[in-house]
Order: sequence, then structure tokens, then C-alpha cells
Amino acid sequence: MAYELKEECGVFGVYGDPDAVTDTYWGIFSLQHRGQESAGIAAVDDQGQLVVRKGMGLVTEVLNPILGELPRAQLAIGHVRYSTSGESEVFNAQPLVMRTRFGQIALAHNGNVVNAETLRRPLEAEGAVFQGTSDSEILAHLIARSAANNLSQALVEAVAKLTGGFAFVILNADAVYGVRDPNGIRPLVVGETEFGEGHVLASETCALDAVQAKFVREVEPGELVELGPSGVRRLTSVRGAAVSQCAFESVYFARADSQIRGESAQMARRRMGRVLAQEAPAAADVVIGVPDSSLPHAMGYAEASHLPFDFGLVKNRYVGRTFIMPRQSERTRSVQLKLAAVQEVVRGKRVALVDDSLVRGTNSRYLIQLLRACGATEVHVRIASPPYTDPCYYGIDTSRATELAARTKSVEEIRQMIGADSLAYLSLDGLRQGLKGGGGWCLACFGGGYPVPPILEPVAYTGVEDGHDRR
Ligand code: AMP
Ligand code: SF4
Repeated sequence: MAYELKEECGVFGVYGDPDAVTDTYWGIFSLQHRGQESAGIAAVDDQGQLVVRKGMGLVTEVLNPILGELPRAQLAIGHVRYSTSGESEVFNAQPLVMRTRFGQIALAHNGNVVNAETLRRPLEAEGAVFQGTSDSEILAHLIARSAANNLSQALVEAVAKLTGGFAFVILNADAVYGVRDPNGIRPLVVGETEFGEGHVLASETCALDAVQAKFVREVEPGELVELGPSGVRRLTSVRGAAVSQCAFESVYFARADSQIRGESAQMARRRMGRVLAQEAPAAADVVIGVPDSSLPHAMGYAEASHLPFDFGLVKNRYVGRTFIMPRQSERTRSVQLKLAAVQEVVRGKRVALVDDSLVRGTNSRYLIQLLRACGATEVHVRIASPPYTDPCYYGIDTSRATELAARTKSVEEIRQMIGADSLAYLSLDGLRQGLKGGGGWCLACFGGGYPVPPILEPVAYTGVEDGHDRR
């Protein structure tokens, strides 16, 4: 990965650990790769009151100065955010705390509720006041307006109204709840704390490892769970027509050590690289990957093509979110500052450059120029996922459809645009082979069809031609 275009969110929740706030801090710290725009924690104090601290910035920046203001708690939830739905403003930072007739609740979410606007309009017509634009507020208002007798029942009713790709963690004075969309598009896992006294919810297993929690299971598609005194209790399960887990988590988003369907993302990435080598061999002297996210794909490619793998590119780890910029010129600059080439690895060589994905082509174009300037004689680009042709409506922001290179350009046109000697992508079938278990994946952005119909509502997406709003 050369620069972060935009990332989705990470959620974490813990019940029954005396150090719930510290756990949550480390939990969201290890999910930082899922969002660098805002961070926050909500916890329950000894009076049963919810206390929230959140702000714009990285986990350490936001929380280190104010962590002491959070109570010593047994229950807490946390969030890191990169906006995908809702604007990049502090009032959209999460967790969101609301007072309802079931008492105070805090919510944090990952993903995108595709029928958010449809749900929001009647709520507003009934007088609901929205402070921000996030999907969490919609769920909070649905809960607040429920006629149910208790929060659990209100949650069961409210989540049944949501469609899309989402995972929520919800906190009240007594319990932590977790819910995953009916198709299981967005991830959510359950763990058990080190001494078995409590339970944890997290977007990825790397956050369980960070707090020494044991992986128990994935929250099932459509499942609503309660973490409480009697452990993990299923409150409801609203399964969708099919399971469609986000394939892009395995391709790029998840941290390499996170387990997806029982194996680390790294293993799947290596397999994708191997399949790519079979489908699209390159006449090259060396295989290099784009650090860090594409290194496993490149290793797999090198293994299967019996070519040497080397570290031809170096990443400056300190170019951070300052460079997540909306303008193309700024993005180009961030790539330049973030990646450099090791001359000896590429000089005089035909280089196979493996990247996990190609979205706009900014990375590849710059890297090819860089490699040539360092003496590479040929650069053959191999992309370990299929052409990214369709925008994601389920919480991964990969820019406007109009900016997706493969939406309007052929492979040959993209090759010319980025200046490669050759360009090849993994096929859709090849990606299926690389993914664990073959079926049950969302492949919509790779032209595989949307598992949940995106609802295009022009009013919500002003100024963007394709209905995908990245504001
Ligand atoms: P580009 O083709 O220049 O738009 O960039 C594609 C590169 O950005 C890939 O190498 C990925 O590692 C990374 N990438 C792809 N999608 C995203 C995303 N949604 N957010 C952040 N980085 C991404
Ligand atoms: Fe993931 Fe792509 Fe599906 Fe979005 S469209 S959920 S990025 S696989």
C-alpha cells in the first residue's frame, strides 16, 4: 500500500474486564489501519453513567491526553473512523452517546447502511433531530422510537430495518451488543478475555490478540449478540439471502495477521499471488511488491513463477494521514514521499511489480517511473485482484466511480496510462481460488454483482455522478 485513499472503520467492545478502557484503547489502536480520521471510547462509570471521549486524529493523539478522564470500567466500546457515509467532522466522531427511554446508549459502527436516507426522512418528519450524518444516529433514533419494553427488544426491531454492509457495537449500563449485516459483508468477531471473565467484540482478530483475548467465533451474518453476565447470548438472527463477506478485506484492508475464515489474510494474499503467476506469468528477473500490503501477494507470485523475490521498494512509515488528501496533485505527492526504490535490486533488471489492487492508477504510474529512473529495463505490473470497476456501497471508500481506472478504460489503455511494459490482473475466478472457501464472498467492486441492491438517492449524494459519496 502506498498511500491511504480512504479507509473504513474499526469497532471494538468489551464486557466484564476490570480494565475495559485500557483494553478498548489497545483494541482500537490495533485497528488504526481501518481509519485514521477520528477515534473514541465510551465507558460505563460506577454510577452507571456513560462517559465518552473522542476527537479527530489518531488513537494516540486523541486519547493519550484524555484517557485518564475515562472511568475504570468493566464495559466499554471504541471506534476508529474514516468517514464513508457522513462528513469528516468531529460531530460524526464515534462512539455516539444518546439518551433514550432505555437509558443512555453509546453506538459505534463500521460500514454503510444503504437505506439510511429512506429511514432518516420519516424519522426527521416525526421530529427526530440529527446532530451529524452518520448511520449510527439512525440506529439510535430507531431504538429511541421503538415501542419495545427493553433495549434488547428495541435493538432486535431496529436492526431488522437496516440493509447494507455494517457492523455495530452498542453499549448501555448493563451490556455490550454487537450486530452484523444480514449478508455478513462487514466483519465482526467475538473473543473471550484472557482469564475467561469477559468477552470482546472486534472488527478483526488482530484486536483480540492485542488484548490477549481468545478468538471464539465470528458474529454470524444477521446476528445480534449481547455480551453480558451470562456470556454471549444471541438475541436474533436475520440471515440474508446469501453470505457475501467482503473480499477486499482479504485482498487489502485487513491487517495481514488477522484471521478471516480461519486463516490469516496473509495466507490468502500469498495464494492470490500464486494464482496470478499461473494466470499471468511475466518474463522478469525479479519480483517486487508494494510495501506493506502487497508483499505477500508478491511472495506468492515469485514462488509460483520460480523467480527471485526481493524488497525493491521501501516505505516511509511516517508519512501519515496528513497526506490523505482529496486532490490528485496531493495524492501524487504523498506517493512520492511514501515510497522509494532500492537501486541495486532493480538496476538492469526486468521487474515484475506486484500490487494488491489498482484503483486510480496513481501508485502504479509513479512507481513505474521510479523503477525506470533507478535503472529497471522493463516493468511488468501484475495486480493480484481483478479490475476494480464498481464503487463499493458497503463502507469501503475507493473513490468515485468516475475515478476508477478500470471502469472506463481497457487493460491496454490502463497499461498505457501507467506506462508499464505489460499489465495483467487476477481474474475473478482466480480471486475466488485465492479466497478461503471459494464461495460466499462479495465481489461487487470487481464486477461480481451487488449482493444488496445499492439505493441511489440523489439527495444524499449531491455533486457526485455515480451515487457514491466520498465528500
Ligand atoms: P491507486 O491505483 O493509485 O488508486 O492506488 C491503489 C493502491 O491503494 C493499492 O495498491 C492499494 O494498496 C491501495 N488501496 C486500494 N483501495 C484502497 C482504499 N479504499 N483505501 C486505501 N487504500 C487503498
Ligand atoms: Fe468489499 Fe468490494 Fe464488496 Fe465493497 S464491493 S464490500 S469493497 S468486496
